[in-house]
Amino acid sequence: KASVMEGDKIEDEMLMESLEESKANFTLEKLKEERKTLPIYPYRDELLKAVGDHQVLIIVGETGSGKTPQIPQYLHEDGYTKIGCTQPRRVAAMSVAARVSQEMGVKLGHEVGYSIRFEDCTSDKTVLKYMTGGMLLREFLGEPDLAGYSVIMVDEAHERTLSTDILFGLVKDVARFRPDLKLLISSATLDAEKFSDYFDSAPIFKIPGRRYPVEIHYTKAPEADYLDAAIVTALQIHVTQPPGDILVFLTGEEEIETAEEILKHRTRGLGAKIAELIIRPIYANLPTDMQAKIFEPTPEGAHKVVLATNIAETSLTIDGIKYVIDPGFCKMKSYNPRTGMESLLVTPISKASANQRAGRSGRTGPGKCFRLYTAYNYYHDLEDNTVPEIQRTNLANVVLTLKSLGIHDLLNFDFMDPPPSEALLKALELQYALGALNKLGELTKVGRRMAEFPLDPMLSKMIVASDKYKCSEEIITIAAMLSIGNSIFYRPKDKQVHADTARMRFHEGNVGDHIALLKVRSIKRARDIRDQLEGLLERVEIEPTSSLNDLEAIKKAVTASFFPHSARLQKNGSYRTVKHPQTVYLHQSSGLAQVEPLPRWVIYHELVLTTKEYMRQVTELKPEWLVEIAPHYYQLKDAEDCLEQRKCQRAKDIWPLHEAAAVEDQVFTKKARL
Ligand code: ADP
Ligand code: MG
Repeated sequence: KASVMEGDKIEDEMLMESLEESKANFTLEKLKEERKTLPIYPYRDELLKAVGDHQVLIIVGETGSGKTPQIPQYLHEDGYTKIGCTQPRRVAAMSVAARVSQEMGVKLGHEVGYSIRFEDCTSDKTVLKYMTGGMLLREFLGEPDLAGYSVIMVDEAHERTLSTDILFGLVKDVARFRPDLKLLISSATLDAEKFSDYFDSAPIFKIPGRRYPVEIHYTKAPEADYLDAAIVTALQIHVTQPPGDILVFLTGEEEIETAEEILKHRTRGLGAKIAELIIRPIYANLPTDMQAKIFEPTPEGAHKVVLATNIAETSLTIDGIKYVIDPGFCKMKSYNPRTGMESLLVTPISKASANQRAGRSGRTGPGKCFRLYTAYNYYHDLEDNTVPEIQRTNLANVVLTLKSLGIHDLLNFDFMDPPPSEALLKALELQYALGALNKLGELTKVGRRMAEFPLDPMLSKMIVASDKYKCSEEIITIAAMLSIGNSIFYRPKDKQVHADTARMRFHEGNVGDHIALLKVRSIKRARDIRDQLEGLLERVEIEPTSSLNDLEAIKKAVTASFFPHSARLQKNGSYRTVKHPQTVYLHQSSGLAQVEPLPRWVIYHELVLTTKEYMRQVTELKPEWLVEIAPHYYQLKDAEDCLEQRKCQRAKDIWPLHEAAAVEDQVFTKKARL
């Protein structure tokens, strides 16, 4: 009997397997057909010929024409051995790789893979590699001639991210001494002449788009609350307009979550007569399985509303979008080279962005775009184009990367649009202060070790410094925790008090935020990052050492790299940064905000600008450490303490909690990193 059952089981399994197989074949066939309907398909052979004839080719085609998923496949089919394709965003790299692996019927990570910071989903077999620009920059460090690649495609070049702009200079150089390497620069906008000029008059290959007319609607008067206006507009479309999905452009994760909550709440009362509204968020930190959901087809009769960041502007195409809601804002980095401060602020978009956004509604049929600003605003207030990131960002990382690549004369590097020289000098100055560069501007041993870590230079320096203080184990944990952003302490709206009490448990003994992070460390992603950093420790020959019984050593290692971020308590409970004096405040999320009396000297990880400049991730510091650890940066008088400050009040007396709560509710800015 047993054998019969066994036999049945095997038969069942075989049946299931063949069913799975035929299902997979069916999907594969369907995807094959779909590939042929893309606007780029009729130009396949012509494109391949152009790539064959020219070393560098500028490719221009409207978003949605199929450039990102198709061109690398065409090249692969044509016999090119290994193709690298860079994306400005992690999400785009991951999701396109997933799609292409489906289209080719292979497992993701085998022939088709992706590589983003801290996550390498490729293998020896990988021939189509999607990656962030930052990852290709790192590959240059190990392989300056990119010998492993036969084609490099710098995709979404129009976005002009920092990595893209640096890559331009590097690939242009590589192409000169590797005549066999093909270079494709692809862009969604028509100002391709600029790219062509930069790449020694490279030819431009145009893929005509298929675009349906898009009706543009403006508001009659400016909107006081664009989030609310966006939600109301989405609901109106849902209730009154024919089928077709809705795409709403918001500025970030918090805003998207708020919009999702409100939409869910308001649709509850609509009654059974109104069809279902499917709500799908998409932003960089959304878990992968949730990201895939935005591509699921909408059931008949329902509306799907996608709440997206700028990701959906050009990097990702969601089929079936008929309505676009454009509040006219995005989060934009800006940098003040004088103070060295970087902030990420909600800023009006450019006309070019507004037009890209509108275009997303007219891909599969006529569309409608609702601009939540006036026509006057559009014509008179919006800039024509977005300023390239390289001109509004901190260049500390760039300087370290380029120096590691042996590029010394940064002021004369072949930038398409050069950064302000003040910002470059500031970055050089910081690398000198951190000990990564010597007086001649040459990379030091410390700098070389720092460059091994795919982290912000100050975090890398902290790890390198931990060697001296014998606490590398703890420091890499702290670095991993600081790298995953601000989602460590979850603070749901309806359980804030609970969450705060739980959080305070990690702050026992007023250890400061860095040590508190060390105590949490249970998050899987942080553990993954930590594992990778541990591997890198070995590479730069730092012994794993632990000093959990000596917290001062850990704090000193933090100070050894974050010393430029020191601040001192003022009489009124605010702080003043020691170098480039500026008033800053303790962020309410800091464990030290509850301490009495407030610490007189602190070191912070970053500044966040909301209503004021707030220090986030703060640890108490002894002023003498500054002179001990960074004598080249601080003098004794900087670290002097004045007695009258001893009677400092608590910050909370001056800075009432209700304001703190209001600040919490605002959209927090995050420091985006390479
Ligand atoms: P382009 O790079 O020219 O903007 P797209 O990336 O928009 O081209 O790709 C064209 C089409 O490929 C899309 O309209 C969509 O049908 C399909 N596609 C691309 N990426 C994905 C994905 N991650 N999931 C599902 N479909 C995708
Ligand atoms: Mg694309």
